[in-house]
Amino acid sequence: MNATHTTPATGPRIIGHVIDGVEAASAGRTIDRRAPGTDEVVSQVMAADAAEVGSAVAAARRAFDEGPWPRTTVAERAAFLHRVADLIDDHAEELARLDAEEVGKPLTTARGDIGGAAGLWRYAAALAMTMKGQTFTEGGPDHTGLVLREPIGVVALIVPWNFPALILSQKLPFALAAGCTAIVKPSEFTSSSASLIFGLIAEAGLPAGVANLVTGDGRAGALLSESPAVDLVSFTGSTATGRKVVQASSGNLKKLSLELGGKAAQLVFADADLEDAAAAVAHGATFNNGECCVGQPRLLVEDQVADDFLAEVVRRMERIRVGQPLDPQTQLGALIHADHLAKVRGYVEDAAEHDGTVLTGAAPLTDHALSAGQFMAPAVVELTRADVPLFTEEVFGPVLGALRFSTREEAISLANGVEYGLSNTIWSKNTDTVLDTAKALRSGTVYVNTTIDAPPQMPFGGYKASGVGREMGEAGFEEFTELKSISIRTGKRTGAFPV
Ligand code: NDP
Repeated sequence: MNATHTTPATGPRIIGHVIDGVEAASAGRTIDRRAPGTDEVVSQVMAADAAEVGSAVAAARRAFDEGPWPRTTVAERAAFLHRVADLIDDHAEELARLDAEEVGKPLTTARGDIGGAAGLWRYAAALAMTMKGQTFTEGGPDHTGLVLREPIGVVALIVPWNFPALILSQKLPFALAAGCTAIVKPSEFTSSSASLIFGLIAEAGLPAGVANLVTGDGRAGALLSESPAVDLVSFTGSTATGRKVVQASSGNLKKLSLELGGKAAQLVFADADLEDAAAAVAHGATFNNGECCVGQPRLLVEDQVADDFLAEVVRRMERIRVGQPLDPQTQLGALIHADHLAKVRGYVEDAAEHDGTVLTGAAPLTDHALSAGQFMAPAVVELTRADVPLFTEEVFGPVLGALRFSTREEAISLANGVEYGLSNTIWSKNTDTVLDTAKALRSGTVYVNTTIDAPPQMPFGGYKASGVGREMGEAGFEEFTELKSISIRTGKRTGAFPV
């Protein structure tokens, strides 16, 4: 397999497909990617057409049905996954810089992503080593039941732009660990790190066709979702696109794993450590530029501490260093593109027109060093009502919407009163408050006295419109498997059947 990632001495990187182990030289359309921090074209991404997507699916199908990968031992698969993890470590800085540049996220955040990505390849290796089924002997002395855990088949892995290398690594190593073959579709905005990782996968010795890369826009994702030769789609992205994947996948009733949007709340009770909570609220609203499904864009704060708490959050938000993504001092970078920046600022303007008070931020940044990019100051808006889009919809930018509450029941009702259910955070020192509230929240993850902080051993996914299925943890690994029950009787069956 050739690496597709070409970095010319000058000019944009050329990013293309890897199909059946070969860099596919598409003669068709390319998509320019402009860096959100500078507006310069940094990569040109080949846009897969239907024939190329078809070739990638056919290669993965052949590799699954006839190739060696699903028939390797778990130890062989684990050894391969460890080699990739080591190579990711070796290329960590290069990968971090690609993601920082193309997403617009701070380099420090991107470095954390790549460390996390390497860890996920190692964790998937451990899961491969412990892959197992079950046996049953409860059907009588002449009965043996075997439940085999098998790879599900050909999987399409559709990755969004906010954590390109990390979310790819939440999917691909787990699929490979299970013995699946795969087609990866990164976002058109952020394909460079996927391309580099495919070079590393080749270097680590994966057989041709086991992992294929198709670049391009949403049409490639739609073609994968509807392909009858794909057994599972693992999709991370917006809830709106997730619904399209559900519809497109119905032809062969393929399995789906959907990680969709979120609208988390931080519930701050008066008895909390308010200093820690204020720092976490500012972090939760701005981590990864606020472009984060487990970001925490809503604050629910108990009445009696609300004035001082909001003042402290505002103070911390105003200290956040907005800057060029590749500057290691930057804490908040550039949003993904100009339309998105306009949309995010539009939510703030709309809230201000609906009785909201902008306590800080949201103004365009005119500093010369930032003038070409998609930058904004982080914003805090105090709301008086829970029915404004800033409070109910996924804004996906560095904006915090705050509401006050007076009872625990009110806080829970406000937290649960949105269509999403991915995560929430509780700040309190009272065990009853913490546990009773955690149980009442309708979300796949609840952080307590910390935020955006859970190890990959814990399953990750959403209630309600935030998704279907789980990623990571044993449950996430099992999404890439099927169970086969084999029911066996020994001895003669005389008289066992009524005919
Ligand atoms: P999108 O839903 O726009 O895109 C996600 C991926 O799907 C991209 O690769 C995109 O390609 C592709 N795609 C676009 N149209 C289709 C289609 N019709 N069929 C199949 N695939 C398609 O999300 P974003 O990339 O904008 O990412 C941000 C969203 O992702 C946010 O809403 C966020 O909450 C969510 N997200 C959820 C996470 C979770 O785990 N719950 C984690 C991270 C993000 P292209 O970009 O080339 O158009």
